Amino acid sequence: MATQTMLKFVSTPREMPEKRSAAERSDDFHEIYREFAAAKAAEQSSRCSQCGVPYCQSHCPLHNNIPDWLRLTAEGRLREAYQVSQATNTFPEICGRICPQDRLCEGNCVIEQSGHGTVTIGAIEKYITDTAWDEGWITAALPAQERGESVGIIGAGPGGLAAADMLRRQGFQVTIYDRYDRAGGLLTYGIPGFKLEKDVVMRRNRLLAESGVEFVLNCNVGEDISFDAIRGKHDAVLIATGVYKTRDLDIDNAEAAGVVRAIDYLTASNKVDFGDDVPDFADGELNAKGKRVVVIGGGDTAMDCVRTAIRQGAQSVKCLYRRDRANMPGSQREVQNAEEEGVEFVWLSAPGAFTGHVTGVAASAQERDVDGPPQIASVRIQKMRLGQPDVSGRQSPELIDGADYDEPAELVIKALGFEPEDLPRLWGVEGLEVTRWGTIKADFQTHRTSLPGVYAVGDIVRGASLVVWAIRDGREAAEAITDFLSGAARVAAE
Ligand code: SF4
Repeated sequence: MATQTMLKFVSTPREMPEKRSAAERSDDFHEIYREFAAAKAAEQSSRCSQCGVPYCQSHCPLHNNIPDWLRLTAEGRLREAYQVSQATNTFPEICGRICPQDRLCEGNCVIEQSGHGTVTIGAIEKYITDTAWDEGWITAALPAQERGESVGIIGAGPGGLAAADMLRRQGFQVTIYDRYDRAGGLLTYGIPGFKLEKDVVMRRNRLLAESGVEFVLNCNVGEDISFDAIRGKHDAVLIATGVYKTRDLDIDNAEAAGVVRAIDYLTASNKVDFGDDVPDFADGELNAKGKRVVVIGGGDTAMDCVRTAIRQGAQSVKCLYRRDRANMPGSQREVQNAEEEGVEFVWLSAPGAFTGHVTGVAASAQERDVDGPPQIASVRIQKMRLGQPDVSGRQSPELIDGADYDEPAELVIKALGFEPEDLPRLWGVEGLEVTRWGTIKADFQTHRTSLPGVYAVGDIVRGASLVVWAIRDGREAAEAITDFLSGAARVAAE
């Protein structure tokens, strides 16, 4: 009987790449998993049962052809595996690192469902594309023929970059405008290096620049250049700004010094990781070193904050979340990593007030008027229980009267989620329709907005969502823009 390459899930146990010890990884911002060796990647790939209806693929927003690249990896045909992988995904090595696979492909793998432990899809995806980079298989995509039409993209996050890559391959002239000094959006300044090392993002940016994509950085649309000017310069415009406005708290002393926004905290930490001068980090405002830190929130951004605080040398790190572990939005794998690193989760807890002090004594309203906002001293924690499910099906948290207590803290990080900025007002644009949530109205397939030739993708349309959805949107919008410009070119030629 011929030797079977695949279906080895019964005889071969699931293995992730080796994870660095919590003590070792808590001292630096490097990724926590070591690389698979070639033999291990092949072995783990061979566990796949090559399902006729692959649920891994149908639950992947990009519909990645996972069974095929697993089989090619198991057979040692890595270059072909890379080709199959990159056919549907612009940044497979980034998705391999940061997708919440336990909620997507791996969570729906039939082997997982049958109790044998999922195929380690994300780790293998990362291995394939990291190998492609090492082997020099990834080179700048130079179009066969240049085209005269140009596309302006506002926002250099994953949606904008994915669209830029596809449009440039078609020969369009592509310019990306971004408010930050480096491209990548949250990939660069939101997600910490221990999940996504910065070189991994920067080499993608370099590749796009080599392919002819022009980056206009430090450029705030509405201030440095108007939206109308961008529209006037380009034949089509793609809005891919993401959402950056932080949800806030309406409680006593909400403005206390030492209460900071997650986006500011993570951006400062990532800039320090790049070797930049960051005054707000140097003066201690955005540095957790030696502090008792409380992070409020239960999503992936909160997980990034708690684990960053550990690496900065916080005295203690507590994460407050108003529901329980089973009902939190963040990845369970991230919670486990955080717990291993010393983070304490305080479930069923919400902040009721912040208490501040001026010079070590509780601040009165009068003192605050004189001296500005007090320094955070503690968080009043309100205990919750889960009540009836709400319209979303999740149980609503209810307050338990009389169970409050004070948790001392010198740094409080608000990771309560992000909301869209009011772009039509900020940019002074008439006719750009938004939803009642403030997100831009766009067709979910073509990503066309209410303005002719203007498209929008990613979080500014969906609300805060996953990187992989932004990549999918960017790729789809690039196709729609190509059709639009090709149609427009045909009409002009007729
Ligand atoms: Fe392989 Fe799991 Fe996908 Fe089935 S669901 S094809 S076993 S990875």
